Amino acid sequence: MSVRIKTPNLDDIFEKWKQKAARTDRKKMEKQFGTKGAVFSLDAISAAEYVKDTMKEAAIYFAVKKSLGPAPKGKEENLVTAPRVGREQYYSFKGAGQINKENWKGDEKVPTFESIQAVPCKNCRGKGYLEDKCKTCKGTGKIEETFTVLVGEEQNKEKKPFSYPCAACYGTGNRTEPCKECGGHKNMYKYEILPVPFKTVVTGVPILHSSAQTRYEKEIGDDLHKMIEDVEGIRFSEFKELESKAEASLGYMNKNISKTIGAARNDYKKHEKDKDAQIQSQIYLFPMIQMMATTKRGTKFEIYSLGSGNKFMVYSNF
Ligand SMILES: [Zn+2]
Ligand SMILES: [Zn+2]
Repeated sequence: MSVRIKTPNLDDIFEKWKQKAARTDRKKMEKQFGTKGAVFSLDAISAAEYVKDTMKEAAIYFAVKKSLGPAPKGKEENLVTAPRVGREQYYSFKGAGQINKENWKGDEKVPTFESIQAVPCKNCRGKGYLEDKCKTCKGTGKIEETFTVLVGEEQNKEKKPFSYPCAACYGTGNRTEPCKECGGHKNMYKYEILPVPFKTVVTGVPILHSSAQTRYEKEIGDDLHKMIEDVEGIRFSEFKELESKAEASLGYMNKNISKTIGAARNDYKKHEKDKDAQIQSQIYLFPMIQMMATTKRGTKFEIYSLGSGNKFMVYSNF
């Protein structure tokens, strides 16, 4: 089933523009359309007189929900010696709630203060030093000497052992060396580089493609996003359907419209594939009328309508 949408009447578009323009800047209207010596009246300003050309165009609209954040998952760990722990810049999110990604300055993964943990050094088993046999006394704790003693009247030379405690190990036979791994600090320190706890922000993004290529695309898109009910278009749930029914629905077609449909289709597919995006609305096809007009003073301007004869919006660079 295909429903032909009624495009707005040119006079109705012009009338809507005229009323809007007069509300916005009546003086400008008077200056551009007034007659010297005559009382200014809006009634005298007609489409027949001032619209020089019209073109039938179309616009396609859909809304996309995009979620920003959270940051990439997974964590990294670093293991460093005590003097190096303080060289890192730490962050803390304890009690800070979730972070708004748009306001965040910095990396998406950062070292967190709360993750710092002491890990006993494996090399020295957390003692800070390594024990070894004293090299000076070979682990005996004693320095052994042999004295030559002269014994008796004959003064016979006799070797006699003599020992005293080793000073290198204070007589323990063991020596301790600071552990090279932990530098004697007993522990190594571990910290984690964790994703910043970003809030998942969901924002609605209006997408508009129009064949008229106006400079109002952004404005029109934003307007539609806020008041889609105020404009009448034809809705489709699939792009394929729009493509096959566009001409019958509009009652006209041109090269620019075909191109616009193609561009909108690519954009739609791109959003369908984007895992952070979700298409939020149906696809709307709107008739668009572009009117080229000239004021009584000779100033050129354009009027656009978007929507059906029942409900449409107007835009103008007047
Ligand atoms: Zn150690
Ligand atoms: Zn010793």
